Amino acid sequence: MTSHSLDVYGKGTAVWFPDVKEGWTSAQLVSKDVSGDNVKLTFLTDDGKDVVIGTTLTKLSKTNNAELPPLRNPPMLESADDLTSLSYLNEPAVLHTIRTRYLQRNIYTYSGIVLIATNPFQSVSLYTQDIIQAYSGKRRGELEPHVFAIAEDAYRAMLRDEQNQTIVVSGESGAGKTASAKFIMRYFASVDDKDRSQDVKKSNATTSGMSEVEEQIMATNPIMESFGNAKTTRNDNSSRFGKYLEIQFDKNQNIIGARIRTYLLERSRLVYQPETERNYHIFYQLCAGAPPSEKKNLELGDFTQFHYLKQGGSGTIPGVDDAAEFETTQKALSVIGITIQTQWQIFKLCAALLHIGNIEITESRNTAMVSETDQALVTATKLLGIKTADFRKWLVKKQIVTKSEKIVKDLNAQQANVVRDSVAKYIYANLFDWLVNVINESLSNEEVAKNVSSFIGVLDIYGFEHFKKNSFEQFCINYANEKLQQQFNQHVFKLEQEEYVREKINWTFIEFSDNQPCIELIEGKIGILSLLDEESRFPAGTDSSWCNKLYQHFDNPTHKKYFQKPRFGNSSFIISHYAHDVEYEVENFLEKNKDTVPDEHLALLKNTDFEFLDDILTKGSAIAAPAAKPDAKRSSVIAKKPTLGSIFKASLISLMETINSTNVHYIRCIKPNEVKVAWKFEPQMVLSQLRACGVLETIRISCAGYPSRWTFDEFVQRYYMLVRSKHWGPDTKKLCSVILDDSIKDPDKYQVGITKIFFRSGMLAYLERLRLDR
Ligand code: ATP
Ligand code: MG
Repeated sequence: MTSHSLDVYGKGTAVWFPDVKEGWTSAQLVSKDVSGDNVKLTFLTDDGKDVVIGTTLTKLSKTNNAELPPLRNPPMLESADDLTSLSYLNEPAVLHTIRTRYLQRNIYTYSGIVLIATNPFQSVSLYTQDIIQAYSGKRRGELEPHVFAIAEDAYRAMLRDEQNQTIVVSGESGAGKTASAKFIMRYFASVDDKDRSQDVKKSNATTSGMSEVEEQIMATNPIMESFGNAKTTRNDNSSRFGKYLEIQFDKNQNIIGARIRTYLLERSRLVYQPETERNYHIFYQLCAGAPPSEKKNLELGDFTQFHYLKQGGSGTIPGVDDAAEFETTQKALSVIGITIQTQWQIFKLCAALLHIGNIEITESRNTAMVSETDQALVTATKLLGIKTADFRKWLVKKQIVTKSEKIVKDLNAQQANVVRDSVAKYIYANLFDWLVNVINESLSNEEVAKNVSSFIGVLDIYGFEHFKKNSFEQFCINYANEKLQQQFNQHVFKLEQEEYVREKINWTFIEFSDNQPCIELIEGKIGILSLLDEESRFPAGTDSSWCNKLYQHFDNPTHKKYFQKPRFGNSSFIISHYAHDVEYEVENFLEKNKDTVPDEHLALLKNTDFEFLDDILTKGSAIAAPAAKPDAKRSSVIAKKPTLGSIFKASLISLMETINSTNVHYIRCIKPNEVKVAWKFEPQMVLSQLRACGVLETIRISCAGYPSRWTFDEFVQRYYMLVRSKHWGPDTKKLCSVILDDSIKDPDKYQVGITKIFFRSGMLAYLERLRLDR
């Protein structure tokens, strides 16, 4: 712990000073003068600078040495695999340990219950079948920290407690969430566990050694990535949606199914990509990989032919062969059970979207125009099986329905472009949801569902985002992270402390910041989201009228801590999130929230001759609107569409309910540098991520508290053999104290509560060793 008297600062004592570039720099105490109350300490930093600190003993004792630099751990501890086992647990120690380990090519480090994974940006030989086998059946802490150890932990906890589990993987874009989630999936699918019944495997074994359903679960990755991932500036394979994957087990612990829930696919990417970024992979795969005959049918060419694919100016990814990836996607679709014929219907729809993007809209005297013979228009409508003339009409006109009449008005070119893009986005979003639905039907049909006895969920969801310009997307993402952070806080801080109180063990409360007010500000009855929905339904509502309402409601002393109006301008608002203050520009919030498609287009699409399109619109929209009542779902696509904000809120609340009903494990992925270079560690960047994900906060509690705990019965059952049989008897509590007295010499290492024994971190590994020695 960090409190210490001045005595620990002796000549030669190593400490840390803040450093702009390195985060922290090391120094040594070279002289210490104490005369009366006055203290003068001189340090020499590693880069040769003298730092003198003058203070008084009175001050030091009052502030608990707060003015003195944090102490550095002895070198022996500096590559400890669990941060909570460090003697001095402070920010520089944490950073230095992660850095030292990373430079020694150890990408994993524990921080109490959290696994920190630092992206190596290079393939590392940590995930082979041998290593999977090595982690199987081992307790966490017996082997090096690893994502497999977390997976194994979750599996053991599921068996032991008969409780569902969740592994939350978080971190910023490019940090390694999806990579980690895939290793976890691979672990469950490939581990050959003596405890698990092998019947299913034997009967269904495939060449990979996985069962059929395990292969199907693995096949969901290339599918979801093709349709939901894209190249961005920060990650060549960036997930543009959140995902919760439930791996389902039967009572014999065999994997029998899976279920995917997705969150907020980035729709705007379909019609627009920033500089150097791409659209969803599938489109480039299709253009590169479709055989000539299909290319001809779908009128496909090189990606440069399509407006929706070339805006970012970069259509290829170094090291990625889109044609080969297309084959992988097709194979995966087949594994899931989607026939070749249906696959080509999917691709036909994708092609149609590309042609929609190429429809040329011109303008004359403020009126949008599309040529009847526009090739893209003709092809798109042909592929979609809808009437060309009608589609063209409703691209350039809109209908206003009043009580007494229907008025048709012309659109200008900009409005027509918005309509065109909204149709494309709508179809793609439905296609994506349809795919998820089909995957779920195939991986967890009713028969499977009946036999599911427990599941392990893996959450791979975008981490906290703050850019120069932040919009609706960042708002939703940060809202999700605010909820996850609260869950994490509650788990780590509140529950811990409550249990200490319940068990009446000696414990001083550690403060933690509860972010409930911030969540309330966003999702409350009169919150930012509800005001946004209200404004979205209001015909005359605009971004700026909404923004003014936000100021009216929240720009006051009550909300000051979480909401601020910026000093300049009237077009943005600031939220103080747990990780950072973020300024959101209100422009387009309403449009993005409404995500409207004109009713005329919905009706037109509904009347398609292309049965597959009808199918995805019906099934897709059913999942897109989880808040809708079951019977309202099917009645009509034209029925009032819920807003994206409300859909997101509902799905997030349901996710949190699921997570809260499970036992949760945490993996925090860290991106060590911006340039994606292997083994390059940028300290300031890492520090800000460690702060944003709550690792630094958690460390305080794990270390001050007792991270492991056992009931008397559990403890006796496992460790009775550590004492002679003459002590064995029916009084378990008494037997516990005999075992503890005998095995653990330092009484600070544990505390005995009312029903449980609480251990400092590291003690269980120690007891396990004693047990093995018997
Ligand atoms: P996003 O939020 O953008 O989806 P992410 O956190 O899911 O980002 P990943 O796609 O998992 O990031 O990782 C980015 C890249 O980093 C991967 O494509 C891979 O090249 C590399 N990477 C991540 N983790 C590992 C690892 N454990 N071993 C090797 N490479 C890794
Ligand atoms: Mg990802």
